[in-house]
Amino acid sequence: MKPNHVGLIDHSMTVNGLAFPASGTFGVINPATGEVFDHAPALAPDQLDSVFAFAAEAFEQWKRVDRFRCERLSAAADAIESATEELALLLTAEQGKPLDQARNEVTWSCDWMRYFANLEIPREVLRDDSGGYEEICRRPMGVVAAIAPWNFPLLLAMWKIAPALRAGNTVVLKPSPYTPLSTLGLGRVLRGVLPDGVLNVVSGPDPLGALMVEHIVPRKVSFTGSTETGKRVAASAAKDLKRLTLELGGNDPAIVLSDAPLQETAAGLFAEAFANNGQTCHAIKRIYAHESIADELVERLAVLARNARVDDGMAEGAELGPINNLAQFERVKGLVDDAVRRGGRVVAGGTPLDRAGYFYPPTIVDCVTDDMPVVAEEQFGPVIPVLTFRDEDEAVLRANNSPYGLTASVWSADLESAYRLAARLDCGQVSVNAHSGGLRMDLPFGGRKWSGIGVENGIWGYYGFTEPQVIVGPGRGAATI
Ligand code: NAD
Repeated sequence: MKPNHVGLIDHSMTVNGLAFPASGTFGVINPATGEVFDHAPALAPDQLDSVFAFAAEAFEQWKRVDRFRCERLSAAADAIESATEELALLLTAEQGKPLDQARNEVTWSCDWMRYFANLEIPREVLRDDSGGYEEICRRPMGVVAAIAPWNFPLLLAMWKIAPALRAGNTVVLKPSPYTPLSTLGLGRVLRGVLPDGVLNVVSGPDPLGALMVEHIVPRKVSFTGSTETGKRVAASAAKDLKRLTLELGGNDPAIVLSDAPLQETAAGLFAEAFANNGQTCHAIKRIYAHESIADELVERLAVLARNARVDDGMAEGAELGPINNLAQFERVKGLVDDAVRRGGRVVAGGTPLDRAGYFYPPTIVDCVTDDMPVVAEEQFGPVIPVLTFRDEDEAVLRANNSPYGLTASVWSADLESAYRLAARLDCGQVSVNAHSGGLRMDLPFGGRKWSGIGVENGIWGYYGFTEPQVIVGPGRGAATI
């Protein structure tokens, strides 16, 4: 399939294993042009009842046999892998990321599916002797409403689908209206691979997510998105005491100590601040550099920024694509302009590229203070502020002084100091001499404070789609009545 054939693909929703009729369509914009390049189906609010009914019906069988689920999830991973090129092209067209990175996202999605297909679930028998039997069983919840954002549409959907399905739940998945097509493609690829009704994929403009959370059928909502929306989801889910996992925003600090090797550190910081164009929940969003090395670090970062190739994701050699959508583009531009008005200094980047689409270069800003919005708020785009500190206590205090608590990192040649400092940071994951070192399928990922509730990934992510049931009784050796 060539990129210009993207518009010819079937983008139907998948419900009960079949294409589901839409009540209308909405336009999908290619961020590299700013133009609508295709249309996605819009589910009407009154169609939600039948979607959830199919998922509830499928749950009754799907919950029964774990071995069958493992086998089907492995087959699903194979089917997705076979469709890598098709899904990656859709992803680049609607999300903007370079095609090789889109292919990586599809590959990681398969890896996640395989991990959960093969995950060993330990039996938790606390006692089994003549005096008594005690076991904790992990039971599926029922239907899960899964709601995903636009930055990693497939991978972050997979963080929900794979553990939820393995645990025996069925899923109704909704992608962001900015990036619906690759997820609709995923649903289509899995028709006939997963039993009907087990994974349902619907799309529509924004009221749809709120309607899914309000619906009576789902017992669990798994949501990844902004903190603002996450709070609304929590309030709405509370009315029905639905179980909830929220993966929300971050304002992730990196602390660079005076002894950090600057060449490697600058390369690591740059990669982890600008991966996916900074549109990554765990991207570095503030750098605190010791005052003795800050100037050199800023200059090294600026060189990397000036040399990065920003281009249409379909172009050979593009390292960073456009920002995904106009609102986000305006936000990044606004934050940088505001920082400059308040005395910040743009060392690299700082003005949109002179071309169609939402292109903004990687931007390094210094001479900023903690209270400026470019530092205090989540930018979620290609801009990184660099601040200085004098001693470690000050760095810890300022890094922790945020309503968010997703990830952080410490960079130093002295590992003892780095690990000691890491333990003082108030967030869900801290890496040493890297930033997202803990972002793995087998480790729990989640935020403190406004960054979320619950975790995804690993056995802990699996448990999040189950509820414990305790079974107790007389010991096997005891007389039966
Ligand atoms: P968003 O909150 O605008 O939208 C997320 C999803 O929620 C979309 O599918 C949207 O259609 C849907 N939605 C909108 N209103 C809703 C409502 N009232 N009820 C239910 N669903 C609703 O977020 P976004 O702009 O798509 O994503 C960017 C944000 O996501 C950033 O803040 C980023 O940090 C966060 N994020 C967090 C993680 C994490 O794991 N912690 C990962 C990726 C992104």
